[in-house]
Amino acid sequence: MKRLFLILILYTNILASDKLIIAHRGASAYLPEHTLESKVLAYAMGVPYIEQDLAMSKDNHLIVIHDLYLDTISDVAERFPHRKRKDGHYYVIDFTLKELKTLNMNEVFILDKKGLKQAKYPERFPLNRAHFTINTFEEEIELIQGLNKTLGKDVGLYVETKRPWFHKQEGKDISKATLEVLKKYGYTNKNSKVYFQSFDYPDLVRVKKELLPQLNMDIKLVALIGLNDWEETFEYKDGKWQNYDFSYLLNAKNYGEISKIADALGPTYTLLFDAEKLKDKKVVANDFVKNAHQYKMKVHPYTIRADALPDYVKDVNELFEAVLFKAGADGVFTDFPDLGIKFLEQKGSK
Ligand code: CA
Repeated sequence: MKRLFLILILYTNILASDKLIIAHRGASAYLPEHTLESKVLAYAMGVPYIEQDLAMSKDNHLIVIHDLYLDTISDVAERFPHRKRKDGHYYVIDFTLKELKTLNMNEVFILDKKGLKQAKYPERFPLNRAHFTINTFEEEIELIQGLNKTLGKDVGLYVETKRPWFHKQEGKDISKATLEVLKKYGYTNKNSKVYFQSFDYPDLVRVKKELLPQLNMDIKLVALIGLNDWEETFEYKDGKWQNYDFSYLLNAKNYGEISKIADALGPTYTLLFDAEKLKDKKVVANDFVKNAHQYKMKVHPYTIRADALPDYVKDVNELFEAVLFKAGADGVFTDFPDLGIKFLEQKGSK
């Protein structure tokens, strides 16, 4: 009986740990996002996947950074005051790798009315402390693969090409460049520990139908789903660039077609719940996950932040529970990888 009980515990542990905790921009709640330091910490926290957002430098290096620009996360404005564009932003794509390497990276900040830097998340790593650098995609892959070797693990990459449509307007093919680096480091097929994600669905279709076959690769693809008013993605249609309509990816009638392209969907987690009931702070799953699973697509929503919880949960564990078990998602992005891992461990041992 005791033995049976142990097997049961083991089994439920395995069931619970089928869920993926994805380190969103590293352990970004604790160290400036996308720095190698934050990736090492995420690794040590025991996640199966660590995220890389990518943009391209002027000299075509893939840079691990969340935004296309540098102004809310580095000292670029002090170092290169004359290099901003008309819209006030300092774009990664306007700098060479050598220039980017001279920047001091920071926790994300916003400028207040007096033009002073204020932390976006006040409880996170202090501004202007220590010295962090920007890194290339290859440097980060080598770090993770090196740790995989020394620690005997197999932690994966969860890569996002940022705004491929923008890079195209600037004459660069970020998706092709990303796939070439992945191939160089041995990530070539669906068993490789990598997911390739994008909000640019038209570009993801091109990745699947043109680029992967050209490179003799076939890796797991994730269609990210945003809200239309974020204006996250533009597509060239009827002779002009226009805001992409995400309703295509939300309509389950299209899932047969979409599942030929995507292995997983990445929605904002709110999309997994009944929107009307959320208004009364009632968390009830809608059919999102069920519809995706019907076509064998996984669902990996973003992003759980213990310091920015929605009003319909009382703590972070309730949100992990709602997303991973009530709604049934297969994984989730979080700035707090340790809390995600701890949640799953507790869930498994109950
Ligand atoms: Ca991302």
